[in-house]
Amino acid sequence: MERDIIFAGNWKMNKVIKEALDLVNGLKRELLDIEGCKIVIAPPYTALTCINDVLLDTDIALSAQNMFGEDSGAYTGEISPAMLKDTGCEYAIIGHSERRKYFKENEEIINSKIKLALANELRAIFCIGETLSEREENKTMDIIQTQLLGGLKDISSQDMSNVIVAYEPVWAIGTGMNATPAQAEEVHAFIRGKLTELYGVETAESTTILYGGSVKSENIEELMSEIDIDGALVGGASLTIAHFSEIVKKGLNTKLQRR
Ligand code: PEP
Repeated sequence: MERDIIFAGNWKMNKVIKEALDLVNGLKRELLDIEGCKIVIAPPYTALTCINDVLLDTDIALSAQNMFGEDSGAYTGEISPAMLKDTGCEYAIIGHSERRKYFKENEEIINSKIKLALANELRAIFCIGETLSEREENKTMDIIQTQLLGGLKDISSQDMSNVIVAYEPVWAIGTGMNATPAQAEEVHAFIRGKLTELYGVETAESTTILYGGSVKSENIEELMSEIDIDGALVGGASLTIAHFSEIVKKGLNTKLQRR
């Protein structure tokens, strides 16, 4: 089974509603005829509903950037998975390094969020990645293993069809310094190997593993040439119509040529 190719844009805390609508309308124009991959955008919560209206007649899917780890209750300021479904979200990004760093999300929290997302029929884009000091101390694979196993604890092989893993080296996020294709492929192959140990070859081979960290139209082709890189999670470059659509078009083209 061929795994999904996915290009996802994480807008982070950017774009008021008018700006968000301009961006999504532009992406819709540029990407309407694209076939062969899934395109996912993750706007801020405040823009989800109106963006969903614009996307109704397209295959572009909506994602949340986060969600709370409980179904409902006295959690002032938080957003539940059911609320996200209600806005039209099909995906939720979980465990982004900014959530780990600024909001102290650990493996336990991330694992319970992934389970709750799946229980609510949201596909989880599960982010993992090492910091610069961890890489320099040769701890990359240990960190990846801990984060992967912790986040996927008690997730079944069947549920893995709704989990997308995103390898995002923290030192490459928003820094302009992307991992080289070889560095990224080494970690992606390691992740796929661990997924094989956990779930068997079939599940591991059908799991989409995205690379994220300073992806641009200038580096997407070399990254997508790597066998275990199945798409990208894009931050900064997803904020402009031209950059994100070029990443999708170039990246998809490269991958389809390799298949
Ligand atoms: C991200 O935030 O997931 C990300 C990869 O950001 P950037 O592309 O800006 O490095």
